[in-house]
Amino acid sequence: MQLSKKISLRLNNSVFPILPQGASTIAEAIGTEVRFVPRRTRAITVIPLSTCIMHSVLTSSLSWRRRVQLFAHSTSRLASSLASNAPNAKPPLRVCVVGGGVVGLTSALRLLQLNHRTGIADNQANTDGVTQPRRPVEVTVLASSFGADTTTAGAAGLWGPYKLSDTPEHLINRWGAATYNHLFQLAHSGLADVAGVSMVSSNSLFPEPQELPFWSHIPLDFAVMDERTLTGLSQRAISGSERIQAATPPGSDCVVPRLDPNPFLCGWGYHWQSIVCEGSRYLPWLTEQVRALGGRLRRVSPLTSLEQLSCPEVDLREGDVDLVVNAAGLGSLELLPDPEVVPIRGQVVRVEAPWVKQAYFYEPYYIIPNRDTVVLGGTGQRGDFNLAVSQEDKRLILDGCCRLLPSLRGARVVADWVGLRPGRTSLRLELQREGVRLGGGRSGGPGGGGRVVPVVHNYGHGGAGLTLAWGCAGDVVRLIVEEGLME
Ligand SMILES: Cc1cc2nc3c(=O)[nH]c(=O)nc-3n(C[C@H](O)[C@H](O)[C@H](O)COP(=O)(O)OP(=O)(O)OC[C@H]3O[C@@H](n4cnc5c(N)ncnc54)[C@H](O)[C@@H]3O)c2cc1C
Repeated sequence: MQLSKKISLRLNNSVFPILPQGASTIAEAIGTEVRFVPRRTRAITVIPLSTCIMHSVLTSSLSWRRRVQLFAHSTSRLASSLASNAPNAKPPLRVCVVGGGVVGLTSALRLLQLNHRTGIADNQANTDGVTQPRRPVEVTVLASSFGADTTTAGAAGLWGPYKLSDTPEHLINRWGAATYNHLFQLAHSGLADVAGVSMVSSNSLFPEPQELPFWSHIPLDFAVMDERTLTGLSQRAISGSERIQAATPPGSDCVVPRLDPNPFLCGWGYHWQSIVCEGSRYLPWLTEQVRALGGRLRRVSPLTSLEQLSCPEVDLREGDVDLVVNAAGLGSLELLPDPEVVPIRGQVVRVEAPWVKQAYFYEPYYIIPNRDTVVLGGTGQRGDFNLAVSQEDKRLILDGCCRLLPSLRGARVVADWVGLRPGRTSLRLELQREGVRLGGGRSGGPGGGGRVVPVVHNYGHGGAGLTLAWGCAGDVVRLIVEEGLME
């Protein structure tokens, strides 16, 4: 019989529902103690509140929101350890996620959500057809860089399938739709501000009519532009203004726009509602979510192979990992190694232009408003590892974007940035059962003893990591559950 996974904690007459990792426990705070009562055995574990971290969390002077987050974190840890000690409890599935960008952290979060039901993400986790796991999940995220040092942090973060090479369209649609729906909910929730997610009206312009993009059914309000819109946008193709002598009153000057002698031809286009999920804001939010659900994050020196996970320096011993999720992005080129991985260099200029509220695309240029700056792009140099800012690229970007949207002229440049998109012939999301040998000597290696653990690969998201991460992470979870790895 599978045990119920629900516990609730009653504290000072407030009941907090908690879904611990496989626990069948009811927690009650009575006076100065918390009682955990496994439903099956009726045995009672008593933890004095004075020594209980939850007590200090709940009575601290932190904001209520922070208190609830810390509370969820502490109780899940506590409940998890109680659960794994409970009679007949299944041992946890210990997952090591390699990669601390949007792909790794989202994979970690969705795995941890199998243990908990909280907020928005909870509904999502269960509407994708993933059934509840049999085992609790423990997650450790290892990465050579977190936060600002990742590619994710520099991305403008607009939802839109981009530079995904031969990744099958039906998969892009599946992952893209799940991510769009998730971000749409976030953008309309009370978390939008802290997660850096907002709706952005977007205009894609072309010289001539095109086929509709294969993903056109996903974003809201997708519509081919009518003549009036196209004419309006074309008339904006002006460069600066000129001062002319007005006829009346005699002698006075007036300023009129001057038409660009060589405007971008906007013969066709479509309008759609996109969503911006700013990498630099979304990552800290994701990190907080992972931590709140009991996930651990550890910075390590860049690994040269997955076998290194069992090295003493990494300190994840053989017995500490049952499954690896490889979300190392471009790092997979050397980590596996995977020769199909290729950098796609992207340079952008961030300018201060708070009057720009919509996104514009005209290959190869794009204009994407973020909260404090507007991101102007871009380049897509395949196979180029150069992270230095190119002045020539910068000039082309500024010229092109100002022609596309002349209101940008004179906007103050705030920052230049270059990132390497993790390109691949096709995004790789698959389970490798004989994934990696851990514990076979200092560097692991074939035939060297130890234990072979499965690896779920999730990398090669090109120019669309933020566009697909949520949906891809859903499939990581599905693979793990459906392939029986939770049994
Ligand atoms: C200019 C530019 C603009 C972009 N704009 C958008 C956009 O608007 N919308 C969008 O959806 N996408 C955009 N992207 C693409 C997006 O940034 C990427 O697809 C996404 O960041 C990939 O996420 P990731 O987690 O796979 O990789 P990363 O963010 O690069 O994270 C990789 C992680 O793996 C770790 N790692 C790698 N190798 C190792 C190793 N050997 N050992 C240990 N750890 C390792 C790293 O330390 C890091 O933590 C843009 C990219 C660029 C360059």
